[in-house]
Amino acid sequence: MSAAEVDLLVLGGGPAGMAAAWEAALAGKRVWIVEREPSLGGLCATTERDGFRFDLGGHRIVSKRAALVDRIRALMGDALEERTRKSVIALRGQRFTYPLVAAELATKLPPSLLARAAVDYARERALDALGRRSPDATFHQWVERRFGRTLYELFFGPYTEKLWGMSADELSSDWASQRLSLLNLSDVALRLAGVRKGAARTYARRYLYPRGGIGALFERLARELDALGVRVLCDAEAIAFDRDPADGSVRHVRLRAGGSQIELRCGGVVSTIPLDACATLIAPHDRATREHGAALSHRGLRFLNVMLDGPAPVLDATWVYVADPSLFMTRLQEPAERSRSMTPEGKASVMIEIPCDPGTHEFNASDESLCERAIEQLQDVGVALRGRVIGAFSTRAPYAYPRYALGYDRHRDALFSAIARAPNVWTVGRQGLFRYVFMDTAMEMGFAAAREFVRGQRSDPRTIAAIDNNPTLHEAQSVLG
Ligand SMILES: Cc1cc2nc3c(=O)[nH]c(=O)nc-3n(C[C@H](O)[C@H](O)[C@H](O)COP(=O)(O)OP(=O)(O)OC[C@H]3O[C@@H](n4cnc5c(N)ncnc54)[C@H](O)[C@@H]3O)c2cc1C
Repeated sequence: MSAAEVDLLVLGGGPAGMAAAWEAALAGKRVWIVEREPSLGGLCATTERDGFRFDLGGHRIVSKRAALVDRIRALMGDALEERTRKSVIALRGQRFTYPLVAAELATKLPPSLLARAAVDYARERALDALGRRSPDATFHQWVERRFGRTLYELFFGPYTEKLWGMSADELSSDWASQRLSLLNLSDVALRLAGVRKGAARTYARRYLYPRGGIGALFERLARELDALGVRVLCDAEAIAFDRDPADGSVRHVRLRAGGSQIELRCGGVVSTIPLDACATLIAPHDRATREHGAALSHRGLRFLNVMLDGPAPVLDATWVYVADPSLFMTRLQEPAERSRSMTPEGKASVMIEIPCDPGTHEFNASDESLCERAIEQLQDVGVALRGRVIGAFSTRAPYAYPRYALGYDRHRDALFSAIARAPNVWTVGRQGLFRYVFMDTAMEMGFAAAREFVRGQRSDPRTIAAIDNNPTLHEAQSVLG
């Protein structure tokens, strides 16, 4: 076993981990990143095949954090494109422009449905006025109390249960307030019902996108880290912490890298790996920690990346939300709508987002069978792929969404307490905090942890966990103006 020494060890090389390494290296610290996958980027990686490029779900940069956006602009130079987002909702065999156009609603939706939605909505407001409601516990309660049963059954219930693979009665109401696209869609649904009138909210239609996909940003950042002397170990992971018996600090970390083991002496650890995995490294023999960790789970996603002959556009939209529960996908994306660099000249592509968990049929089915099913189903959404498909391959994100099942916050809090026992360990990012955060918030958390490390002062894990993800502002305006 070889031995080495660093100031800061970063576990996980996604946006949060890379940001932490960047900030610490700029402060002159010796930093290592240990990443389990063969390359950096995490959920923000981009995959290339035969000249077609696909993100894991199609990311965009929209942030109210001007200082962060300035850093990204400086890093990317002219490789950053300004784009305009175009989204539509596929519902009941129709497509609705988003933001909605009043004339389109009037012609496409049955008046009886609109009337029922308005009555349900008024009923909820009347119950509010009586003022004897218990707090919203579940997603179902949260939505139905705000929008009424008809709208819940029309869109929120089916979409949410398909996305999560669980009943909306078992999902915490926290999800409703944190899920960006659902908040948008709530506005849409109210307009569908004619309950909300007037001009649509100003959505962040413009965004920044790196030429070559979101992964290009993290490839550039990886080169920057290399120039700063950060060492990156891919296909590697931490297998044990050795803690100081006096104060609980982590002094040595045992790493597995390829076929060998490395003993690393370090001054601190910023972890962006799943919260339960980090807590288990700190307290490997603690039964309660293991039980709390086992109670938290993630929703996985499979992305079916379909390569097409003939020119773009295919969808004529950046995103198509698919609400119908009989169709197995939740979203479609067209990479060329984000950047022409995503497909070869004269070709097009579509990415189909399928919520599913490891071990299930949808997660494991062959690309061919899934693609055939998708081609069949997409006809109902008005997307004709037959005869154009050159090939299809899948990418998978088993940790795509932290699952906010009822009571999740109690288990998460217990794991924060386990982490707090090691005063030189920070847990940050989407997996590290078991919190639905965007790329910019994940990076901000990485910066914050690195600054605390440089100052030699660690706050309680809940302090960084509370950094504002601010989805409403994030969606309502962008630094692009
Ligand atoms: C479908 C989808 C669409 C999204 N769209 C957007 C968008 O448009 N805009 C936006 O801002 N955000 C978007 N996001 C969110 C964004 O992807 C995340 O906020 C961001 O990737 C979080 O960064 P992170 O570093 O915290 O986590 P991750 O990106 O998940 O990185 C964690 C890293 O840790 C590694 N790891 C895990 N376990 C271990 C281990 N034991 N040892 C070593 N390494 C390990 C993983 O391989 C991974 O590389 C989207 C997310 C999804 C799922």
